[in-house]
Amino acid sequence: MSLLVTGTIGIDTVETARDKAENVLGGSAAYFAFAARLLAPVRLVGAVGDDFPTAFRDALNDPSIDTSGLETRAGSKTFRWHGKYLEDMNQRESISTDLNVVAEAPPAIPESFRDSPFVFLANTHPAVQYGFIDQLDSPGFVVCDTMDLWINEFRDDLLKTLSRVHGVVLNDGEARMLTGKDDLFRAAQAVLDLGPTLAVIKKGEHGAMLVTRDDLLVLPAFPTSSVVDPTGAGDSFAGGMMGHLAATNRTDIAAVRSAIAWGTCAASLTIEAFSVDAIRAADREALARRLARFRSSLAFD
Ligand code: AMP
Repeated sequence: MSLLVTGTIGIDTVETARDKAENVLGGSAAYFAFAARLLAPVRLVGAVGDDFPTAFRDALNDPSIDTSGLETRAGSKTFRWHGKYLEDMNQRESISTDLNVVAEAPPAIPESFRDSPFVFLANTHPAVQYGFIDQLDSPGFVVCDTMDLWINEFRDDLLKTLSRVHGVVLNDGEARMLTGKDDLFRAAQAVLDLGPTLAVIKKGEHGAMLVTRDDLLVLPAFPTSSVVDPTGAGDSFAGGMMGHLAATNRTDIAAVRSAIAWGTCAASLTIEAFSVDAIRAADREALARRLARFRSSLAFD
């Protein structure tokens, strides 16, 4: 089934304790799309400025990514983000976020995309996120992500988005920030009080937790020995998760539990290189092999 994503498509500069990548392809929707397309066709909606490099446009031109919803806005500038990781790669700070085109009117969803049953609202302005829901025919399953900037500065818009989605994917710090609860399980339950029926809390190298009113799954991360750049791990996680649901056309709890495992494996691929390089180089078999290893790593008598 079709999977629609909207979010940022941007130009990133990323520093780690050991290395730096300047002006590389990034953005929440870009990472999501490269992960999700391993499992299901992706419809990408977003806006970039006329400074968006041709090489990035070519990179997005994947047979499993429909970019007819990618708008290039004349006279506007592309979203830019500069992030820096500390020695502990679970810790990062945003040095700068230039919203640019993201602060303007949201891109329109092409008519041919409006019937998408699976929708992911990747990180972007929450007003853009709920503006999207308004443009859809009758989406079956809508999941959103968010980030510190939106929680702190656009909380009312974010609460409006949360009241209208089926699921939310957040990292641990964001769940605490949103709910004011330190205990992660309580934070997840408080997130459910805001509207979604499922909350997925990502805990970086410590894995992820799925919480619903009557179900719980706690999974570790897939251990990889070469963490180069954690950027996009969350978006790729969401891509693997939603890709699995769209591919199987299921949203029942058993499918969501499997989807968390697919997402975990997709995230582990992304962090093995800067930018989208590793997840873009991966194919479905590479992801499936990782899932098989992940499954056997969890089995015991
Ligand atoms: P993640 O590491 O999964 O949180 O995603 C990082 C990606 O999100 C980077 O490629 C950034 O370009 C993008 N990004 C950073 N800040 C924001 C923001 N406030 N809203 C949307 N996307 C963002």
